[in-house]
Amino acid sequence: MDRIVTIQAFGDNYIYLCQYDEHHGFAVDPCESTGILDILQERQLDLKLILATHHHWDHVGAVAELKGHAGCRVIGCDKRRIPGIDSVVADGQIIEVGDDKVQVIATPGHTRTSACYYMLPSRATGPGILWTGDTLFVAGCGRLLECDAQTMWDSLQKLASLPDDTLIYCGHNYTVEDLEFALSIEPDNQAVRQQLRQAIRMQEEGDPTVPSTMAQEKKTNPFLRSDTPEVKNALKIPDAQAVDVFAELRRRKDFF
Ligand code: ZN
Ligand code: FE
Repeated sequence: MDRIVTIQAFGDNYIYLCQYDEHHGFAVDPCESTGILDILQERQLDLKLILATHHHWDHVGAVAELKGHAGCRVIGCDKRRIPGIDSVVADGQIIEVGDDKVQVIATPGHTRTSACYYMLPSRATGPGILWTGDTLFVAGCGRLLECDAQTMWDSLQKLASLPDDTLIYCGHNYTVEDLEFALSIEPDNQAVRQQLRQAIRMQEEGDPTVPSTMAQEKKTNPFLRSDTPEVKNALKIPDAQAVDVFAELRRRKDFF
């Protein structure tokens, strides 16, 4: 039985339920309750915790309902804008879930108070697991709604410093579109080409396009590749600073 269940909602949102021991689980970004409630019922689990990556309705829409139903704690980094929040956490803080530890990584950029959650690697559970909300997508990144490019770039760099085998579970399925954009930037990048074929196949089968890995993202995600000669040359700004390359990519993606 999979520890992490990916629920597809609202067309392109991903909601996650992580079962961390025999009887308990936590949810990440529940915009809708049905899928979560079904799995809780099916597996006879108590929902103990909700982790919210940011306050947008398509990530926290069902928080109040699930909290009312399960009496679980709600955790996030935004005191005022996340409904029903119980604990406001900050960068570096550790949340204990059963025998596992989840680290809060503050990643302002998409919103001022966006956060990612990183379940630390362990001998029992394997590589680290990263929930990225709307900060990092498979081959993409979130829009800069409340922060500047430097802020988002710094946040992405924090994520990129995690181990290569880190499993990445993001907040949306924009995978095919993001890979098409990546290919438009780097037409010769074979890893992108191959992943695009695979993502199209997964989508046709109705399978989620997550998880990705940090190693994969470093090979295919143009935003994480802003500091590479390949992407700088592709944009014809070989001497630019990484953050300026990132800003230019983000601008282009907004009109893609
Ligand atoms: Zn959002
Ligand atoms: Fe979103």
